[in-house]
Amino acid sequence: MNVVAANRLQVPISGLDVQAYTIPTDGPEADGTLAWDSTTIVVVHAYAQTGHTEELAGIGYTYTDAVAADLIESTLMPVVIGMDALAPQRAAVAMDRVVRNLGRPGVASMAISAVDLALWDLKARLLDMPLYAVLGAVRDQLAIYGSGGFTSYTNTELAAQLAGWAAQGIGAVKMKVGSDPAADRDRVAIAREAIGPNVELMVDANGAYNVKQALALTERFVEDAQICWLEEPVSSEDTGGMAFVRNHVPAGVDVAAGEYGFDLGHFHGLLDAGAVDVLQADVTRCGGITGLLRLAGVCAAHQIDLSLHCAPGAHLHPGLGLERFKHLEYFHDHVRLERMLFDGVVEPTGGFLAPDPARPGNGLALRREEADPYAV
Ligand SMILES: [Mg+2]
Repeated sequence: MNVVAANRLQVPISGLDVQAYTIPTDGPEADGTLAWDSTTIVVVHAYAQTGHTEELAGIGYTYTDAVAADLIESTLMPVVIGMDALAPQRAAVAMDRVVRNLGRPGVASMAISAVDLALWDLKARLLDMPLYAVLGAVRDQLAIYGSGGFTSYTNTELAAQLAGWAAQGIGAVKMKVGSDPAADRDRVAIAREAIGPNVELMVDANGAYNVKQALALTERFVEDAQICWLEEPVSSEDTGGMAFVRNHVPAGVDVAAGEYGFDLGHFHGLLDAGAVDVLQADVTRCGGITGLLRLAGVCAAHQIDLSLHCAPGAHLHPGLGLERFKHLEYFHDHVRLERMLFDGVVEPTGGFLAPDPARPGNGLALRREEADPYAV
């Protein structure tokens, strides 16, 4: 029986459980400033009693170090249990306060994000509604772009991956640059050749270039391959450098950053400096759905679009409610993990992701027998 039918106005959160899983990548992965061979996901279930024996669970997750699971158990769980599952924002405020002396950005923010996502999902399941309907949707589907193109790939692997997304009808693809700037002009030209003339090509340097290098290379990327997106050409901590690049790249190239936004201060810093044409955010980092809703207001005030970073399964439902929405990053590594670990993952159609309205909450369920071998 759902909460509305039971006519209950408050439902206490009865428990949380958390587990980290570390899963090897399907090959070496690298971008302009980092290389990795495994990915850790921290999965939270939040519970509420709906009857004498029946219990409902919401699910949330973040991609971070397993230490976030310890933080959730030691610090967030005690403040969240007993709070009202129908008011996730209130739990979010309590979680923000309890980590004050730990530092809100970074691991604490990712831990809060995973719990917040689980609580919003729990609320939707208590109401027996899809999460997008609880949040309120302004669109039916989300445009995605294929993302991978790691600098660890051979040119053949790079071309095959990007061409694969183009063949699926995905209208834009993104590749990594910056590990070896001398090789980037050729790699970007190979990518354009692989996807043909009608698919948008985006590049992400993950902060690897300096300002002059970024400007010189972007001219070449536009000339050879008509790129339309330049992500973190320089470190997103260097908001002045980002703004300089933004103001000097050819028209038609959107400069973007924001994936390391853990709190509104980071986003404010980027916007205040005029550092970006499109802001990025990650619901598994920025404070969960509660944090994303706060940021949605900031984007509306600044008349700037938001592009959602990675973790497609976590972004699908809240993304449908964003008025200033650009696209969602369909990231190779996370797509693979989410398909492996969860039931209810939706597949793209013609470059869009749409939720299954028949599944309550975010529609996801952990496949425990698949996940258990990777438990940390
Ligand atoms: Mg990026």
